Amino acid sequence: MPIKIGDRFGRLTVIKKLPSITYGRNTKSKKSNWLCQCDCGNTKEANSSLLSAGLRSCGCLQKENFERMQVDITGQRSGRLVALKKTGKKEHGGYTWLCQCDCGNKVELRIDSFKKNKSCGCLNKEVILKTAPKKLEATQVNDTNIGAVLKNGVPKTNTSGYVGVSWHKALKKWYAYINFRKKRYSLGCYDSAEEASKVREQKRLELIEEYENEFGKMEVARRKR
Ligand SMILES: [Zn+2]
Ligand SMILES: [Zn+2]
Repeated sequence: MPIKIGDRFGRLTVIKKLPSITYGRNTKSKKSNWLCQCDCGNTKEANSSLLSAGLRSCGCLQKENFERMQVDITGQRSGRLVALKKTGKKEHGGYTWLCQCDCGNKVELRIDSFKKNKSCGCLNKEVILKTAPKKLEATQVNDTNIGAVLKNGVPKTNTSGYVGVSWHKALKKWYAYINFRKKRYSLGCYDSAEEASKVREQKRLELIEEYENEFGKMEVARRKR
């Protein structure tokens, strides 16, 4: 979209066309150049690439954000977090604060993250732990994989190297599951893929036993073929 007078870019309104600027070695390359009025009262000269790259104020916005980041929040609480002290380290233009979480963890966060996150991350994990297994327990899967469970082959798409073990991104743990007879059994999350795999193997044998009791060894043998 070509820029025209009256266009708004955040706090900036384009009010006047200025002589285009040339750039690079090839002096035929030109960028349109504009005078903008900022909501704060200042004017700002801006060329088309600055505007399309996300220029949104005369500079007052960054200044305000920066000042907001300078506030002293020592002792303030946000959910489970209490701000202990400024670290002196900068992250994306704001100082980070050492924060104590009620769970015992300490984390370094910028003021905006401190206010938004409300925990070291433990809060989110708890929510996921509470909801995820229930959801998965109810998952209905196709009844086509009895043979696969009996044979226990590793599918080509597997990432952990173990059947029925996958990496749970949010929890940063290995998640074990097994699909059997239209049901997905969630077997929980573990620190290592090996651990998850052991739990899964135990469940697999249990399921096969149940299946044998119900349909007999002959049927199991037939399915394995
Ligand atoms: Zn301004
Ligand atoms: Zn925590």
